Amino acid sequence: MTKIDIYQGNQIGGCVTVISAEVDGKIHRIMIDYGASLAGSGKKEDFEYPWIEKPVDAVFFTHYHGDHIGRLIHIPSNIPLYMGDTARKVLINIKTALSKIPDKLEAKLHQEELKILLDEKRVKTFQWNRKTHVYDAIDEISGFHIEPYSIDHSAYDAYMFLIEASDMQYEGGKKVILHTGDFRGHGRRGKAMIPMIQKYVHKNNRKVHSLIVEGTMMGRLDEKVKTETEMMFEAAKYMKKHQYTFLICSSTNLDSLASFYQAAQMAACPFERYLYVYNDYLKTQLKTFSDTAGSFSQIYQFHNVHRLNLNKRLKSLKWKTSMTQKELMEKTGFLAIIKPEAGYEEFLNPFVEDFEAGIIKEIPLIIYSMWDGYVEEDNKAKNQEWIDFLKKQEAKGVKILHLHTSGHAEAKMLADVINAAAPQEEIRPMHTEYPKMFEKLEISEEYKKRIEYSQ
Ligand SMILES: [Zn+2]
Repeated sequence: MTKIDIYQGNQIGGCVTVISAEVDGKIHRIMIDYGASLAGSGKKEDFEYPWIEKPVDAVFFTHYHGDHIGRLIHIPSNIPLYMGDTARKVLINIKTALSKIPDKLEAKLHQEELKILLDEKRVKTFQWNRKTHVYDAIDEISGFHIEPYSIDHSAYDAYMFLIEASDMQYEGGKKVILHTGDFRGHGRRGKAMIPMIQKYVHKNNRKVHSLIVEGTMMGRLDEKVKTETEMMFEAAKYMKKHQYTFLICSSTNLDSLASFYQAAQMAACPFERYLYVYNDYLKTQLKTFSDTAGSFSQIYQFHNVHRLNLNKRLKSLKWKTSMTQKELMEKTGFLAIIKPEAGYEEFLNPFVEDFEAGIIKEIPLIIYSMWDGYVEEDNKAKNQEWIDFLKKQEAKGVKILHLHTSGHAEAKMLADVINAAAPQEEIRPMHTEYPKMFEKLEISEEYKKRIEYSQ
């Protein structure tokens, strides 16, 4: 009989799903995600999955965030791993950079993870089929048929899985399970999710028996989220007034990086605004995004990306004399990505000093585009270094603008997905601190009765 076990489901991050199916008296299992609990979850240690007692045939990853893939290294080496192709490239970039950090012990862990990711025999990626316009299904695991569907999340190349598990109690001998992964409806690709469920999940009248659905935003049900596009226009409005803009944003949040890059180009006049980044890792990451996602849409292309090096001498045939990078940035305006840590002040301070000396007419603007919880004094997930950094900049007169949009679905989108999936038997909330709040969604009483809570 098919069984669904959700571990650490009543918290945001570190949620692990294991589905078992029986074939000829033998139990087979697949796992979806094996990540680490987030800082601030109050959790000291993650649960250890009993790999020997309950062996797993394969692990599938929904996306590259650490709370979904962070414990990769603890998965026994004989188990195959499945993930998105771009997700794998993005992770390789991250681990290559982290392999070289000064902390030798930490670096070694990242090197080991890098080795796993580079193992082409073990890591299998989802293959886009040009003829069917969906990813190829995975049928090589006994007892399972798995269809990956690309969905919208703050991590690019994120997936939802449609799983058919062998089960003779069901019509056709299959129980149908839909695992949403982390998703949202307000990004650039969010609108595709409901039609995709209607067209592919329900193809040939296929019914979903169990829906496993994320509920990150359940604690903030009445929050109205901005769409990526709304955020882009708002950013452009500010960048028109502030030509020197520093950005604090996750290096893997492709959609928001694209929003701010596009906003900078909308605001650019008369010069194009270059994008400056704090290190080569970020440059590589943006190139990966341009090469992969950029082949689908112009919006994911990043042209003219430069590494921050303010004193670097630049030469151009157009100019009579050579200029430093800083002088060029002051002349043309810019968008520069930094981190809210003390070491990054070296990129910001020269512009503040030039403003004070009257060399430039504007003081820089900082756009903070990460979750606000990290910089709230009373939040258990706060980062004191970031709070101090922002306070220090404000004291210099630098304006801080909080402009961010969530990677997760708000109430309406969650209800839409539940209604579209139309689960016949059960709804299993995961990735949420408030599973009971699913009962407050605009779904039928019948669906509310089908909500099954995890331990
Ligand atoms: Zn995520």
